[in-house]
Amino acid sequence: GFRMGIVGLPNVGKSTLFNALTKTAAAQAANFPFCTIEPNVGEVAVPDARLDRLAAIAGSKQIIPTRMTFVDIAGLVKGASKGEGLGNQFLANIRETDAIAHVLRCFEDDDVTHVDGRVDPVADAETIETELIIADMESLEKRLQNILRKVRGGDKEAVQQERLMRAALEMLEAGKPARLVKVDAEDAKAWRMMQLLTSKPVLYVCNVSEDEAATGNALSARVAEMAAAQGNSHVVISAKIEEEISQLDPEEAEMFLSELGLEEAGLDRLIRAGYELLHLETYFTVGPKEARAWTIRQGTSAPQAAGVIHGDFERGFIRAETIAYDDFIASNGEQGAKEAGKMRAEGKSYVVQDGDVLHFLFNT
Ligand code: GDP
Repeated sequence: GFRMGIVGLPNVGKSTLFNALTKTAAAQAANFPFCTIEPNVGEVAVPDARLDRLAAIAGSKQIIPTRMTFVDIAGLVKGASKGEGLGNQFLANIRETDAIAHVLRCFEDDDVTHVDGRVDPVADAETIETELIIADMESLEKRLQNILRKVRGGDKEAVQQERLMRAALEMLEAGKPARLVKVDAEDAKAWRMMQLLTSKPVLYVCNVSEDEAATGNALSARVAEMAAAQGNSHVVISAKIEEEISQLDPEEAEMFLSELGLEEAGLDRLIRAGYELLHLETYFTVGPKEARAWTIRQGTSAPQAAGVIHGDFERGFIRAETIAYDDFIASNGEQGAKEAGKMRAEGKSYVVQDGDVLHFLFNT
């Protein structure tokens, strides 16, 4: 599955947000078979109303949403990369994520100390990014020595790696994140393999006070401006509200949200924003036993999509029987779609579309 790491300075609301996520996950665990929760890892269902509609039409006994993993990555403070450097556990945790949710304090509260004595989310974002830039530079300088040895030994891959490392270092030395380096398609894989902290896409999470959750405030507006200039995304949420919601049952939660002028829970928006940031899509498998959602990256071929369910499905892929979501609904299910000629047989080169309802045929 896809993983988002939650980072931010101390006292910005990370734990509050993470607790809300894991409480929600724990509540879901009763209904869904997959939620395993470690102390700093929470798996949450990706909310998708389409799945419920599909299940209702097909009379599926069980509904299994797709999921997203959040990892609480504590330990970032100003100067963290100096001295002892960032801890190995911290670096390992953050390297393994696909994207970063960066929580920024956008609430004023004299009772909650700010580590730098003032509330300034844009400066906080820079503080954290600087630490990550330094960590990337240090790791690259170390790795570059190894690569140079291999380059001298005539290793072709090492030549490519050296070129990419130098491009990254040049950007980092200018005080900018590695994600700003333009990477060609043929270098994309080697680039990803470098697992640079600052090459991961960032979603800024503006944590505002309860009464500003629906509107945002001047601070979150500054973050929005910064995010747009960087090509990053942002969401406005109130971690406190999310924590309260996570303790309510669904009907109470809905009432509470409408009292606050909110259409949906911030966590749902956060999960969706993460989905968009990573260019993810959902396809469905629907039958009387279960209706299930699966996550793929945009542009995934049918065999690769089958591989998300099981490696054997990908290896033995023959074809995918495909019904677009809208057709499935309009035809009131698979049988109707078949009769209306809306079920297509798609081969290996088919690029799966968001919302596709699929059956895979494969050799074993
Ligand atoms: P972390 O250090 O980033 O994990 O921050 P915490 O989640 O522990 O929050 C630090 C403090 O700020 C706690 O006392 C929270 O209750 C408080 N806090 C978090 N979010 C909000 C908020 O939106 N408004 C206010 N007033 N306090 C908050």
